[in-house]
Amino acid sequence: MASPRVSANPGMRCPHCTSGAAARSSRQLSRLLKEVYYQCKNPACSFAWVAQVEAVRGLSPSGMPNPAVNLPVSPWRPGDIPITSDENQISIFDGPGA
Ligand SMILES: [Zn+2]
Repeated sequence: MASPRVSANPGMRCPHCTSGAAARSSRQLSRLLKEVYYQCKNPACSFAWVAQVEAVRGLSPSGMPNPAVNLPVSPWRPGDIPITSDENQISIFDGPGA
C-alpha cells in the first residue's frame, strides 16, 4: 500500500483566502515551541500572521535524552505520517554516487 504523499515543509494556507503562504521568519520560544511568521502569497489578500509549532509527543526515544525535556513517547498510530515521506528529500539510494 502506498503512503500518502505529504511534505515535511511546515507550510500553511492563508486562513482567509486559502492561497499558499510563505514562511518569512521564525523564532524559537523554547525547546518545544517555535513561532513562524507567514505572509499570504495572494497579492489581493496579503494577510500576515503568526503560527506556532509545538513538539507534543515523541515517536521514538532519544539517544541523548535531556532531563529538562518532558515529552511522552507513544508508538506510531494509524494515520501518523512517516518521517521518510519528504518528497523533496534526496534518497540515499538516489544520490550522486548511485
Ligand atoms: Zn490570503
